Amino acid sequence: METKYIDLKKEIEENKICEASNEIKNGNLVIFPTETVYGIGANALNDEACKNIFKAKGRAGDNPLIVHVNNLEMIKQIVEEPNDIEKNLINAFCPGPFTIILKAKDIIPKSVTAGLDTVGIRMPSNKVANKLIEYAGVPIAAPSANISGRPSGTNIEDIKNEFDGKVTVIIDSGMVDIGLESTVVRVINNKVRILRPGKITKEDIEKLGFKVEIDKNILGKYDGKEKVLSPGMKYRHYAPNTKCMMIYSKNTEKMIEKIREISESKNTLIICRDKNYDKYNVEYKIKMGNTLEEIAHNIFSILRKVDKYNVDLVIIEGMEKEGLGLALNNRLLRACEYNYLEI
Ligand code: AMP
Ligand code: MG
Repeated sequence: METKYIDLKKEIEENKICEASNEIKNGNLVIFPTETVYGIGANALNDEACKNIFKAKGRAGDNPLIVHVNNLEMIKQIVEEPNDIEKNLINAFCPGPFTIILKAKDIIPKSVTAGLDTVGIRMPSNKVANKLIEYAGVPIAAPSANISGRPSGTNIEDIKNEFDGKVTVIIDSGMVDIGLESTVVRVINNKVRILRPGKITKEDIEKLGFKVEIDKNILGKYDGKEKVLSPGMKYRHYAPNTKCMMIYSKNTEKMIEKIREISESKNTLIICRDKNYDKYNVEYKIKMGNTLEEIAHNIFSILRKVDKYNVDLVIIEGMEKEGLGLALNNRLLRACEYNYLEI
């Protein structure tokens, strides 16, 4: 299949988005930008089309897809009436980088829900994504645009490498805004359980007056015993082939000292904050930004580069677990396969 590229980097041309939406209507796959990461989308009401997303990504059939909508009417079409807490969350965080798990109506095919009776709903704020859904006139099921197990697609070059010839259209609108996937929540016994942390933080949800729980799989390793509430959590994710390790201390000097010590005895690549870059006297180092927002924005494209360095170990500077730091820790712990040292 020949993939058509639509370039919306400079200007959002609605006629081109309309063209892409026709491919969604025809049951084809379209890669499109959202404010979190790029998504690989299909008509969420078309079982065959959604099955093709799993094929293109090599995604496990038991890992459900998030369904993207652009208004409340579309939510009503696909899920049972939300309760008051769920309605409050939708009002507060939609549109935005937020996914809520709700009881699915039968109109949603089983391939999308992976056989669960629930479905994840998200209303993106990205203009291209919104227009694409509007012109398609149907909800769009879309996981992150990456081969399963790889870091999520945030940059078009990485996406081209993985999906050229496998999807009908790729819409290029440059680097995404946030760089980490949406926060996924489910309301359980009147509490908001975070199943995957993201830009909407625990603290943001608590401000609404709700009790918030962090699912134990977010910072812990899935032990294979209990049923996971978010099936995606049990899979290897984000990990480069090169062994990675994250090192953190609240005391920055201590953290730097430890990283220097380990990097002296091994052939390493260090991924560090811009402000610490000059403190490491090694051949290979990459700047990841200074703030949590900057790190979130850069981290997936950095993780995709590390295998090119041919080193024995990648050392990543760690960060606090509050705010956006919880989401970063969640992704980086997986990238490091839980090889983490806090001193
Ligand atoms: P991705 O689409 O690649 O960003 O991943 C979607 C994430 O949302 C995965 O971690 C899924 O496990 C989770 N998810 C999607 N639908 C559901 C659902 N119905 N129940 C629980 N988790 C879900
Ligand atoms: Mg994903």
